[in-house]
Amino acid sequence: MLNIVLFGPPGAGKGTQSQKLIDKYHLVHLSTGDLLRSQIAEKTELGLKAQEYMNKGELVPDAVVIGMIADKIKSNSNAKGFIFDGFPRTVAQAAALDTMLKENGTAISGMVALEVDEEELTKRIILRGQTAVPPRPDDQDETLVRKRVSEYNTKTKPVADFYAGQGKFASIYGIGEIEEIFGQICNVVDKLPK
Ligand code: ADP
Repeated sequence: MLNIVLFGPPGAGKGTQSQKLIDKYHLVHLSTGDLLRSQIAEKTELGLKAQEYMNKGELVPDAVVIGMIADKIKSNSNAKGFIFDGFPRTVAQAAALDTMLKENGTAISGMVALEVDEEELTKRIILRGQTAVPPRPDDQDETLVRKRVSEYNTKTKPVADFYAGQGKFASIYGIGEIEEIFGQICNVVDKLPK
C-alpha cells in the first residue's frame, strides 16, 4: 500500500495537491477537516462537539479525530493506499495512526511537507475565506487564522520530527505553480516503498 501523509500549515495547499495525488495514484483521501465539516453539516453529536473547538481555532481532541480515522481505515480495507490530509496533527495522533496501520498489516510510506511562509499563508486563507463554497467561517476571521497557525506551530510541527525519526520525511517548497509543486511531490512519492 502507498500511504502518504501530506503535511503543512493551514493554507499550504494540502487540499489542492491531495486531489491531484488521488487522481494520479488512485488513493483514498482522508481529510479530517472535511470529515469534521461533514459531521457539522449533519449536526451529529461528534460534529457539535468538534465545532466548539473549530470555532475557536483550536485542535479538536485527539480521541475524536483518531476514532474517525480508525473507522475510515476499517471501511476502506480494499484501498490501494491512503492520503492523509490534515492528520496526524499531534504526535499522539501520529503514534495512534502507526498502531492502526500496523493492525491492518501496513504502514506510512512517507510524509511530504509543504513549506510556505506565514505571510503567504495568511493571504491565501483570507482569499479562501472570501471565495470558498460552502463558506468556511474559520477562514474569515483573522484572529482565528492566527490561532490556527499558532496551534500548528506548537502542536503540529513536532509531527514532522516524528516521521523524520523514522526516515520518512521529505520537504517541498510550496510557493509557485501548482503543477510544478505537484511534479516535485510526485518525484518524492515515486521513490516511496509501496
Ligand atoms: P486548515 O488546514 O486550513 O486549518 P482543515 O480543514 O484541515 O483546515 O482543518 C480545519 C479545523 O479542523 C482545524 O482548525 C481544527 O480545528 C480541526 N481539525 C482538522 N483536522 C484535525 C486533527 N487532525 N486534529 C485536531 N483537529 C483537527
